[in-house]
Amino acid sequence: MSAAGATHPGREQALALDRVDELQHLRARFALPRNAAGAELNYLCGHSLGLAPIAARARVLEELEDWERLGVQGHEHGRRAWIGYAERLAPPLAALVGAGAGEVVAMNSLTVNLHLLLASFYRPAGARHRILIESGAFPSDRHVVQSQLRWHGLDPAEALLELAPRPGEELLRMEDIDACIGAAGESLALVLWPGVQYRTGQAFELKPIVGTARRHGATVGFDLAHSIGNLPLALHDSGADFAAWCSYKYLNGGPGAIGGAFVHERHARDERLPRLEGWWGSEPTTRFRMSGAFELTPGAAGWQLSNPPVLSAAPLLASLELFAEAGMARLRTKSRALTAFLHASLQAACGENIEIISPADAGQRGAQLSIRVRGGSERARRVHEALGQRDVVGDWREPDTIRLAPVPLYNSFFDAWRAAGELAAAIRTAEP
Ligand SMILES: *Cc1c(COP(=O)(O)O)cnc(C)c1O
Repeated sequence: MSAAGATHPGREQALALDRVDELQHLRARFALPRNAAGAELNYLCGHSLGLAPIAARARVLEELEDWERLGVQGHEHGRRAWIGYAERLAPPLAALVGAGAGEVVAMNSLTVNLHLLLASFYRPAGARHRILIESGAFPSDRHVVQSQLRWHGLDPAEALLELAPRPGEELLRMEDIDACIGAAGESLALVLWPGVQYRTGQAFELKPIVGTARRHGATVGFDLAHSIGNLPLALHDSGADFAAWCSYKYLNGGPGAIGGAFVHERHARDERLPRLEGWWGSEPTTRFRMSGAFELTPGAAGWQLSNPPVLSAAPLLASLELFAEAGMARLRTKSRALTAFLHASLQAACGENIEIISPADAGQRGAQLSIRVRGGSERARRVHEALGQRDVVGDWREPDTIRLAPVPLYNSFFDAWRAAGELAAAIRTAEP
């Protein structure tokens, strides 16, 4: 611990909170990255890439061994038969997002899944053709909707609606979302919304957004990249038409891990819903007759194209076992306390040098805090670099924001306290 870290209050409180943390044993189930001298880094970047569960290596090696040992027979006779690998992932994923197992599928990656789902759920028809997103949408989500509009021969300049926070504000207000949907009215075909906004960490309640959109006749999909494994979700009850996520952020599935998708049960058997088809979406019991007929698999599984990438799915299985052991309710309880503790520690240590733009209300955020360093982009960047040199791993979002996320599966209250002290020290050393 650096001397700088000892100057702000809260150390004893952090240690006391760690002592009564009933999830603290889970930290040892993860590999913690280390610096060149071999010391553990203070890793607060699970919102970008979750850490490797120790068991991930064994899960991957088991599949490699089965491939070496069995060749093609691994499809049927592997210890986890590859043919059913996606079906293994669906129930634990469904538990995390609050859906039935038939409403969830592990497949592809996030951006691909958004395109596949929009192919089905974005059906512009005459006046009803517009898509609503938030103006701060993640670039890939923006590319998806803009290219979908053009794919349908529409002009994004006319057909893409964007809702921005009010001038001088960072966060979006539910009343503005309602008003925007209402104003779009019958021109609105689809709403694509984040569960948690990636830059600010603002969490949205899904159900009210779905309610408003559906009342106005629009379909609704959610990008849950920053929500799954971060917040408890109730996707089925929200009434959303679809959702998609990646598995390498809070889900710890590893770089480029297999993504996931949700399709509401009411669409499970709708054969009129057009889709881009592949053999893995065709009924498993008849798939291998190779008849050429597409027999729709009911539920989200019917959107699969290909047999699953087992080596990119194996680490996710290891992580989902840890989620099952911890339970999302307990994780959320710890997460609220942990992020609130980081929030208070940052304010105590850094004072007026920072502005935390994430919601102050713990109910409107997940693990992530987005910290704007005052004094301009140049200064902020120097602070971020100095923070990295002090072994705190967060990330940077232009023009002046550092994102830190204490993850309840593997971060401690002491991590949070220490990071606040290191940020204060980084601010001091970054002065010109
Ligand atoms: C992380 C993230 C992505 C990344 O997309 P990939 O297809 O997994 O590369 C897209 N959208 C959002 C909102 C994200 O947070």
